[in-house]
Amino acid sequence: MNEAKIPAHWPPHWPDITDVTVRAAIAAVPRHRFVPPEHRNQAYEDMPLPIGRGQTISQPYIVALMTQALRLTPASRVLEIGTGSGYQAAILAHITPHVWSIETLPDLAETARARLHGLGYEVEVQGGDGRLGWPAQAPFDGIIVTAAAPDVPPALAAQLAEGGRLIIPVGASLWDQSLWLIERVRGRLRRELLAEVRFVPLVATTSRDQPEDPALTDVRRELCELFAAHSGRRSDSFDERYL
Ligand code: SAH
Repeated sequence: MNEAKIPAHWPPHWPDITDVTVRAAIAAVPRHRFVPPEHRNQAYEDMPLPIGRGQTISQPYIVALMTQALRLTPASRVLEIGTGSGYQAAILAHITPHVWSIETLPDLAETARARLHGLGYEVEVQGGDGRLGWPAQAPFDGIIVTAAAPDVPPALAAQLAEGGRLIIPVGASLWDQSLWLIERVRGRLRRELLAEVRFVPLVATTSRDQPEDPALTDVRRELCELFAAHSGRRSDSFDERYL
């Protein structure tokens, strides 16, 4: 099955994916190597697929949209939360050699690490709770979260470099999630709505009883203010986007 090839027509025509480096990455990364054998014949259909443990490899269009929103260059330092199959990490690694990824399920982390390294992608994969980010490697020019959080984890916003971009699905349920861009501009955070999406949940694997790092108090407050105007209703979000 490994002789399967990337079809010549891949990726499909996505009118809003205009970044040629993103299209080139999607065209180059063998998605069939990241999906389980029973779904390999669907690897080049534009849909999410199950990867085991109740998790999914995202729809390629969403991978392209999120990657494009990061505006990466070969010098960018990027953190991914939710390694899953490793496919999104491989797309990032095709654009920049500085990629770190965190996965909470140890077996998925191990499989993805071996797969990425086997394919020659230099991604550092760590097991753990991605909501805490990767302080030792911060700050990052890009942070991409591939699971939906009820709120933006303050540690992730705090680990953004000046001009850094955080792409994150936010929503309490599967049916009400918005994909946000949070950008640090001249020290302040700003947000922009990108799309309505549907992701598996970002799970809390570290205890809520642990005291929060006092250094995060300010960024938590700033995030609260940033999202205070957003009631969570779809119409609000879209009005705001097109105002
Ligand atoms: N980016 C993946 C798809 C990820 S699905 C790919 O390209 O295949 C979302 C992943 O996030 C799942 O593997 C899930 O286990 C992981 N996840 C959920 N909560 C997490 C957390 N707190 N920290 C790190 N990973 C988490």
